[in-house]
Amino acid sequence: MLSLRLDPPSGRAPRVLCLGAHADDLEIGCGGTVLQLLRAYPAAHFHWVVWSGNETREAEARDAATRVLAGAGRADVSVERFRDGFFPDQWAEIKAGFEAIKALGRPDLILTHHRADRHQDHRVIAELTWNTWRDDLILEYEIPKFEGDLHTPNLYVPLDRATVDRKVDILMTGFASQRERVWYDAETFRGLMRIRGVECGSPSGYAEGFHAPKAVLT
Ligand SMILES: [Zn+2]
Repeated sequence: MLSLRLDPPSGRAPRVLCLGAHADDLEIGCGGTVLQLLRAYPAAHFHWVVWSGNETREAEARDAATRVLAGAGRADVSVERFRDGFFPDQWAEIKAGFEAIKALGRPDLILTHHRADRHQDHRVIAELTWNTWRDDLILEYEIPKFEGDLHTPNLYVPLDRATVDRKVDILMTGFASQRERVWYDAETFRGLMRIRGVECGSPSGYAEGFHAPKAVLT
C-alpha cells in the first residue's frame, strides 16, 4: 500500500494541536502517534489542551502530558475546568476557549475526538474543532467505551513495539484515578491497537486508527 506522509512546513517547526475532553483521552486516542511524531519532528511545537479536570485529574493530565511530550521543541499544556459530563451545557464557554486557541495561530495538524463518539463531552470537542478550524488537517482519534461506538478508521498510524509499550506504561502508571474502572487496563489499550494493526498491516502488529473526514492530496 502506498503510504501518505505529512508534509511539514519548511523553515519552521510543525505545530500540532491536541484536544481532549478528559485527562486521559489524548493518551488513549493518539498517545502513540504523538510519541512517534516527536521522534520524526523533535522540534515540533505541541499545544495540548485537556478541557476538564479536578485537582487530581489535572495533576494526572499534566504529569502524563509531560511524559508524552518529553523532548518536544515546545510543549504548552493547559487543563481547563469545565464540568465533566456536562459539556453540551457549557457549549458557549467552551467555544470561547476554542476561539482563544485559534487566535494563537494556525496549527498544521489537529488531533481531536471523533464526531460520532457517543460520549457527549467528546462530541462537543469534536464538533467545536470542525466549527473552529475550517481549512486545516484534522484527524479524529478513537476512544473505546461501554457504549460501543467504534467505527472502522480510514487512516492508520503503525506503531513500533517500543512506542506501544511506552503508551501503555504511561496510561497504566499515569492515571491512578482511573484504575478502578473495569475497562481501564493494558489489554483494552493493546487490544484496540492490535486490531488496528491488523487492519493496516502494521509490521509490528500495532497501530492507532483515525478518522480523516477530509484530506487534500497534491
Ligand atoms: Zn473522555
